[in-house]
Amino acid sequence: GADLRKGLPGDTGSAAGTGDGRPLVRLEKVNKHFGQLHVLRDIDLDIRRGEVVVVIGPSGSGKSTLCRAINRLEPIDSGTIEIDGQRLPEEGKELARLRADVGMVFQSFNLFAHKTILQNVTLGPIKVRKMGKAEAEEQAMALLERVGIGHQAAKYPAQLSGGQQQRAAIARALAMKPKVMLFDEPTSALDPEMVNEVLEVMTELAREGMTMIVVTHEMGFARRAADKVVFMADGEIVEENTPDEFFDNTRTERAKDFLSKII
Ligand code: ADP
Ligand code: MG
Repeated sequence: GADLRKGLPGDTGSAAGTGDGRPLVRLEKVNKHFGQLHVLRDIDLDIRRGEVVVVIGPSGSGKSTLCRAINRLEPIDSGTIEIDGQRLPEEGKELARLRADVGMVFQSFNLFAHKTILQNVTLGPIKVRKMGKAEAEEQAMALLERVGIGHQAAKYPAQLSGGQQQRAAIARALAMKPKVMLFDEPTSALDPEMVNEVLEVMTELAREGMTMIVVTHEMGFARRAADKVVFMADGEIVEENTPDEFFDNTRTERAKDFLSKII
């Protein structure tokens, strides 16, 4: 609920984008090709503020491309993507500013190897948000505490476990005060015993009201944390429903087939 979210990174402190009923993220008729391959087909997707959308589907169905398109790491061929009512431009300063509203966490942790965990988290706020060093460090320490690795701040990424590195990557993304967080298979590269510590941080973030798009094969997380499950296959959204409906009343053969293989 909105009250829980006061003062959190996703809270803009204004009614803009909420009161008018407009979704925080809106994709309309988004298409993307790689050569002959049509990887995103007429994707329509609305994500409300505070909503957690879990995207599932077979390998190669376009889930990563969808995430990358939302962050404009990947240009689209047609359609529109809006974040908080603003249409994403193709390039330029405006794009950099809007892109900073979207935090992204990848399968591979993507931390800067030659910077400490603390420096990894302060870099963006100092460079992009023009935050002072002391303030950036204070914020970084609070975020690292929040994801449970405050005591690792002075270490380098290679000195941390995979689960700790991924939690640092989440802290780094949160440091930019994004309006929406994208997670692309954040636990797929982790040893099994480290999956839960990352999912717990994500569950907590969801509970606090962060708007999230999560690509994952962790169906327990989807059931627990998602407001909406989106099932993709061959570049299309084939099914979109609440987790209970999606898992207990799967409508399409393609989704049934997929679920029978992974559960
Ligand atoms: P998913 O994340 O669901 O596994 P992806 O979005 O990574 O799917 O990929 C969708 C399809 O696009 C796949 O067939 C993949 O091989 C192809 N693809 C992804 N990235 C590229 C690229 N940069 N160049 C060409 N083909 C790509
Ligand atoms: Mg992928």
